Amino acid sequence: MISAAENRKNTQNAIDNWMLGPEKPSNRPTDNRDYWREMGAAWLLSEKEARRQVCANCEYYDNTPETKAEMEAIPFNAFDAGAGFRGYCTKLKFICHDLRSCLAWERKDFESEDMTDESED
Ligand code: SF4
Repeated sequence: MISAAENRKNTQNAIDNWMLGPEKPSNRPTDNRDYWREMGAAWLLSEKEARRQVCANCEYYDNTPETKAEMEAIPFNAFDAGAGFRGYCTKLKFICHDLRSCLAWERKDFESEDMTDESED
């Protein structure tokens, strides 16, 4: 795991070069319009579509229990406040949060298993 200083430096890199944001994230569909419009423009998506691409469903978001435990060594800071849960960005190497996003976002593969018992129909 990175140090607190490296986390600060790499967070700033994500803000400066990868449009990490929004600064004050929210899951309300009308908040942070300017940010999500800009992300949509960069991705050639609508604002609504852009809002669906967040750290929480990014290929590089590591929120495993083991990684969450490792991140506890880095003190909670202002960037953590109000941004949802912590996850480690394996691409830009910093602690990101599930309500934010950045230009490096990539789709995470998702597997589902049907546990319903259709034999009871
Ligand atoms: S690469 Fe993915 S996990 Fe990392 S900051 Fe960007 S959107 Fe979040």
